Parts: sequence; C-alpha cells; structure tokens
Amino acid sequence: MENCIFCKIVKGEVPSQKVYEDDKVLAFKDISPEAPVHVIIIPKNHIENVNDLTKENSEIISHIFMTVKDIAQKLDLADRGYRVVTNCGKDGGQTVEHIHFHLLGGRTLQWPPG
Ligand code: AMP
Ligand code: ZN
Repeated sequence: MENCIFCKIVKGEVPSQKVYEDDKVLAFKDISPEAPVHVIIIPKNHIENVNDLTKENSEIISHIFMTVKDIAQKLDLADRGYRVVTNCGKDGGQTVEHIHFHLLGGRTLQWPPG
C-alpha cells in the first residue's frame, strides 16, 4: 500500500487531474489515454482488485458505478455510449494493484478488446 501510486494520488503525494472527488471515491484523467475520454475511478481505500472484494467492502462498487454514470452524463457520453473496464491480475492486464475502473469514450471502441 505504501508504494501504491493510486494511494499516493489519493493522499495528494502524486498529482492528478481530478474529475470528481467525494469522501469515498476519486476520479482522475488517465495519464496515458486510450480514448478521447479516459477517466480512472478508484475507491479511496486500498483494495487490490476484484479478487479482494468481500461482502464488507463491496458496497463501494455500486457507489463507483453511480459515479461513472454521473461523470458520463457530465462529459456528454451518456447518449453515444462508453465502456467501463476493470482489469484483474496478470492475464487481465492489471498494472496498478489498486482496484480501478476505466471509463472510456468519445470514439467507437473495438470489441473484443484482444
Ligand atoms: P491497468 O492496466 O488496468 O492496471 O490500468 C492502470 C492505468 O493507470 C493505466 O491506464 C495507466 O495509464 C494509468 N496510470 C498509471 N499511473 C497513473 C498516474 N500517475 N496518473 C493517472 N493515470 C495513471
Ligand atoms: Zn492503493
């Protein structure tokens, strides 16, 4: 956790371009965007990935999805559509071990992702 880049962003030790913040979640622009809109949404508490969700800590996931919905509306993506992705572990392509959701939009996205 001490070396977690997203925990450092939450603490303000690493800068980010914030899109939304409340007491439980933070959303910021991805440093290496894959689409015209690429926002990362994270819980402020460190959870490694989907494998670490429990009955006790999983309430945050619905809060994150409501946040995604609000951001998508605010950025005018709701009607045209967008994608929400969470990568889990090595095969899933997870590079930052703090659970996060990618909100991607602003262009037609390919499927399957490969
Ligand atoms: P993942 O591959 O699913 O673990 O996604 C990690 C994402 O975090 C990548 O899209 C990175 O570009 C992004 N990222 C890594 N470091 C930062 C940072 N300091 N600020 C914003 N986004 C970051
Ligand atoms: Zn963390």
